[in-house]
Amino acid sequence: MIYLDNSATTRPWRSVLDTYIKVSESYFGNPSSLHPLGGEADKLLDQSRAQTASLLGVNKKDIIFTSGATEANNLAVKGAAEARKHQGSHIITTSVEHPSVLEAAAALEQKGWEVTRLSPDKNGEISPEQVEEALRMDTVLVSCMHVNNETGSILPVEKIGECLKKHPKVLFHVDYVQGIGKVPLSMTESRIDLLTISGHKFHCVKGTGVLAVRRGRLEPLFHGGTQENRLRAGTENTAGAAALAKAMRLLLDGSREAAGRMRSLNLLLEEKLSEWKGVEINSPKNRAPHILNFSVAGIKPETVVQALAQKEIYISTTSACSSKQGSGSRVLQAMPLPKERSETALRISLSEETTREDIDAFLLAWEEIYETTARKGKQYEI
Ligand code: PMP
Repeated sequence: MIYLDNSATTRPWRSVLDTYIKVSESYFGNPSSLHPLGGEADKLLDQSRAQTASLLGVNKKDIIFTSGATEANNLAVKGAAEARKHQGSHIITTSVEHPSVLEAAAALEQKGWEVTRLSPDKNGEISPEQVEEALRMDTVLVSCMHVNNETGSILPVEKIGECLKKHPKVLFHVDYVQGIGKVPLSMTESRIDLLTISGHKFHCVKGTGVLAVRRGRLEPLFHGGTQENRLRAGTENTAGAAALAKAMRLLLDGSREAAGRMRSLNLLLEEKLSEWKGVEINSPKNRAPHILNFSVAGIKPETVVQALAQKEIYISTTSACSSKQGSGSRVLQAMPLPKERSETALRISLSEETTREDIDAFLLAWEEIYETTARKGKQYEI
């Protein structure tokens, strides 16, 4: 199997699964229980929190373990807006965010908040000037992703943070889900208040994520116990937290070399795919090392995905979250690229484990599929 859909999810690392199983078996106590089993689980949770915090460059108390990035993004956007409703009712985000930010903002809009959605340029980038211009007296939150999950575009969140230094009342949230381990971002050096990551995007188990809350009061999404600094009620996922801390450490330990390897493979893919008639690269030159998005005029992308799958090679059309909606890529349309190009887009996403052999095998399969698909006349009606 050649797995090239790592932006959708990654294969968990064996040692991370070992940690998850060991903790589930040996530290199954409820961290809130007063007996020693609870105490041990609580200590382990605390250790995982400390490790995660130190890898992100924040304090232990800033780490809120969640079920993943969708929950973390909802907590950041809705939680910050609700806690600041007496201060203002304006939010700034971008039109290329993940649905977990866009839909959270849309839900607030229904309740009376005003939302400005900044549009990217043809490289998928948003400039700090656009943010500056959109700021108002009643703005309470800016939410902007770091690396786009469909194109790999890198948004200048450090510079946006710089420009927000003049606006201390505005909270700044960054969705770092696709950037972690691929494109370095220092929370210590940037003015970022809230940061989201998701374990299953870096070889951890699903159902694990973090919202780092460096500054600002948030309203919890749901009510119950006092866990996670009163921001996330419910019995903690001790095994998930330990696995996440471990996966993150392994990821960041090897990230520099891995990013270099992924970049070379990504450039090789770009070079080879560009040789084919009708192929257009949608990702910008300055992109994250693991994502390459391209369109193929005249060939249905679903046909390519299925034909590759028959050879046990897995890539995707758009993002996993929107690929079943069938209306073309919302992100590419926002850039804006022509509709037909957004409807014929394919995404290859690499991981720390992708090898040169994987890419060579993909290119060989691609050649065969391209030729047979085009010859059979399976033309896409555009
Ligand atoms: N943000 C981005 C940029 C993503 O790529 C994803 C996953 N596709 C999410 C948020 C949501 O992550 P999760 O699956 O952990 O809810």
